[in-house]
Order: sequence, then structure tokens, then C-alpha cells
Amino acid sequence: MSIVSNLTRLPKRPNPSATCHTTVTTLADIKRERWALWGNCSGMNCGHGCKLDIDALIELFGKNHVFINDTIIPRRLVCRKCGHRGGSCHIVPPSKHTGSL
Ligand SMILES: [Zn+2]
Repeated sequence: MSIVSNLTRLPKRPNPSATCHTTVTTLADIKRERWALWGNCSGMNCGHGCKLDIDALIELFGKNHVFINDTIIPRRLVCRKCGHRGGSCHIVPPSKHTGSL
């Protein structure tokens, strides 16, 4: 038995080039992939959160705005519940809970 014949018995691995990896880094990516961007208030004892209007954000910051490690959008959030300025953002994949289906 040769080494080559042993190798042919190994289970086949998935072809990495055939695997689909979606990258979501810009506001346009969020819209295209139907993800949602949520903003959460950083006010003391609040934590209110809501889904942000991605079309309005694209209009304000441009479709190529990168939200990863972004400080611009979180700084401009204003809480509708307590009026606090500033918060945090996170993305949520499409589901029936985000309403982004
Ligand atoms: Zn708040």
C-alpha cells in the first residue's frame, strides 16, 4: 500500500472556493443582506433599543460607511425614551424577530 492510496481514502473536505461567505461591513451590506442595525441607549438605567432606519443612515453617511468599530453613528444616537445622547450599535441577522425578512 502506498501513501497515495492512503490519501485517497481520506474523507473529502468541502471545497473552500465553493463555500459562500457573506461579508457584512458596510451599510449597503446590511441592506443587501437584509440584516438589521440596532441602536441601544447607553444612558444610565435605560438600555432602550430600537431598529435603526438603514435607508436614512445610508442617506446621511453613504452606502459605503463601515459600521464595524464605528464611533460616528453611536455618538449621534438620541434615545426616544430618556433623551440620552450616545449608545451602541449591533447588527442582527435576518429573521422574523427583526422584521428584516
Ligand atoms: Zn435611553
